[in-house]
Amino acid sequence: MAYADRVFQLERRWKRVRDSRRQAQIPTAVFPAMLFVMFLCRLRSFHELEQYRDLVAWRRWLGTAKNRRMPCADEIAYVSQRLDLATLRDVLGHLYTRLMRNKVLERIRGWRVAAVDGHEIGWSYKRCCEECLTRNVEVKGAGTRIQYYHRIVVLQLLGETFRLLLDAELVKKGEDEVGAAKRMIERVLHRFPRSFDILTGDALYAQAPVLRLVRKHNKHAVMVLKDEHRDLLVDAEALFRLQSPSVVQQGQTTLHHWDVEGFTSWTGLDHPVRVVRSVESTPVRERVANQWRPSVQIHHWTWVTTLSQKQVPTASIVRFGHARWQIENQGFNEIVNSWHADHSFHHHPNSIVALWLILFIAHAVFHCFVTRNLKPQLRQNRPIIFWARQIAACFRLDYWWPPPS
Ligand SMILES: [Zn+2]
Repeated sequence: MAYADRVFQLERRWKRVRDSRRQAQIPTAVFPAMLFVMFLCRLRSFHELEQYRDLVAWRRWLGTAKNRRMPCADEIAYVSQRLDLATLRDVLGHLYTRLMRNKVLERIRGWRVAAVDGHEIGWSYKRCCEECLTRNVEVKGAGTRIQYYHRIVVLQLLGETFRLLLDAELVKKGEDEVGAAKRMIERVLHRFPRSFDILTGDALYAQAPVLRLVRKHNKHAVMVLKDEHRDLLVDAEALFRLQSPSVVQQGQTTLHHWDVEGFTSWTGLDHPVRVVRSVESTPVRERVANQWRPSVQIHHWTWVTTLSQKQVPTASIVRFGHARWQIENQGFNEIVNSWHADHSFHHHPNSIVALWLILFIAHAVFHCFVTRNLKPQLRQNRPIIFWARQIAACFRLDYWWPPPS
């Protein structure tokens, strides 16, 4: 906490977070600060958080007086419904500015790259709210049942060694994931116009409205191209057959690249696009029936981009395309498996987004602390999870207040 206050002035930033309560017995700043510590300690629920509220370490870390009453689980849930998301995004914006100024957020091959993707959370057959998305699911022995769920889209700034989860937006009833993503991209580019030059995404985002939006802001896109754009794919494949591929060797992997530009047939898009294909083969050994056999692993990738061959070479497009995996591996996989982001802390649309934004803040501060503050000799041979457990242990090892009589 001392690190978070010294480097990011978090204590002061929490005081700027607002909520919509009419009467506040406990100041608003206590709640995001508690939730921030909850995520750092990798706790799984507000009830677990409630059990720690009287620990001296918590009070000291949160900077609260000994005699101040700390909120219970119900109060935390009540306030999380009312936390102002714009002021929470301001705290994340402050982190972004600090990380940019300190050159923690690096460029990839000279370009600032971001990834956008969606994630499903909190599906249930019983619990729902007014913003829940619904779908019919065939359940064995129970026929067709309505399933309630939420979907959230996230924008992450990518880098070689550090990534920042910058914003999140809940998919509203009646809209699709791309609609929510467009709203989030507009907001990010309005607030931080220089946060990225290239947006990457999976095949769902290879749509004319998304490409038009990024071009409107003078940015570019590199999106996975799949069968959804059959005409463009067929045209590109016909031209690839006439081209001899360029060959790149990366360690054990051999990459064959094809690159054709100037496609203008995409309906609804007035910008020519370029299609890049990469076929990547890596020799591997497979153990079959107790015998090692040599084999070759082959991956096929195709991307569509608004960047021309003059602006960016083929190998860089392939690098940007692969960088998109960071939002899966160092984004969703990590926050779901290690930070319990999937857990339904409180089923309310505002709570879900508020908690994810506070999680993003905790995630950035934690990784900044481990990679930039701890000495390399200390970090050697110790995985990230070791440091997460060390931080959690710092809270749990403290004594109770008041001490048991
Ligand atoms: Zn809901």
